[in-house]
Amino acid sequence: MDDQASNSDTQSNVSSPDLEPAQHFEVSESREATVGSIGVRRALPHRARRTVGAWCFADHMGPADVSEESGLDIGPHPHMGLQTVTWLIEGEALHRDSLGTEQVIASGQLNLMTAGSGVSHSEESTGHYRGTLQGVQLWIAQPEATRHHGADFAHLAEPPRGDLDGAGFTVLIGEFENVGSPVRHDSALLGLDLEVRESLSLPLRPDFEYALVVLDGALSIDGQQLSIGKLGYLRPGRDEVSIDVTGPTRTILLGGEPFEEPILMWWNFVGRTRAEIDEAYESWHLGDSRFGTFKSSLPRIPVEAPAWRQREKR
Ligand code: MN
Repeated sequence: MDDQASNSDTQSNVSSPDLEPAQHFEVSESREATVGSIGVRRALPHRARRTVGAWCFADHMGPADVSEESGLDIGPHPHMGLQTVTWLIEGEALHRDSLGTEQVIASGQLNLMTAGSGVSHSEESTGHYRGTLQGVQLWIAQPEATRHHGADFAHLAEPPRGDLDGAGFTVLIGEFENVGSPVRHDSALLGLDLEVRESLSLPLRPDFEYALVVLDGALSIDGQQLSIGKLGYLRPGRDEVSIDVTGPTRTILLGGEPFEEPILMWWNFVGRTRAEIDEAYESWHLGDSRFGTFKSSLPRIPVEAPAWRQREKR
């Protein structure tokens, strides 16, 4: 996902003092942004919270009307140090990348791209789909152990599903209630799409922190309401959470062990130092071989130099 709106560097904040009781449910507002030609609600990162587990970015995109020739329309752009998860709940889009992948993703399907030291990709219209597009785009920060390795791409045509009393679920990444997703993850992580039919108690891992992003409907936790356009956060320490609903509600649940490596996020890159970001910026700006090339119907996305470099030039 390309984020043209925010070029500022953002340092992760993984060690906030534990002043709140463990049972507190934190609700924050998403901010509106435009990605390609579609409006999104960006739940992560925000000022008070940079990561949830290794999850470092969460956009709820659409619903938006797309045509055969106009849809996500995100031209070729680079990534490093992260995995991108695309989960569509309505519509279709075409993914192309510098590994040579050309993959149509449809509603109920998942794409997972691992950037490692560098990859580039685009999200295009399919040439044949007209209708509503809605989904989520998520980023996962890669740990030191894998972030300098090669790129990778996986497509899941039918992510595994399961049932609880009161809800159906799809496991996007990780494992939940003995249902495991086959796609790769480099840290202890869970990504779940939960279709809640009636109020229920959801089993959690006490060593995980969690976030919820509602896609449809509304729910309540600890008496606080969570609706579309907000992020709900649960600290580690719970082995279950009561979710109250008054009607069918669909939510994404993101979980993971708190990510202890301090990350530096700039544009589409996740690194650790400005020097690393500078190198990646240079490679994309100069068009060297690092991020590869591929054929796209859209122009390559340029980017201004990091603000700290512009300051140095003066
Ligand atoms: Mn991207």
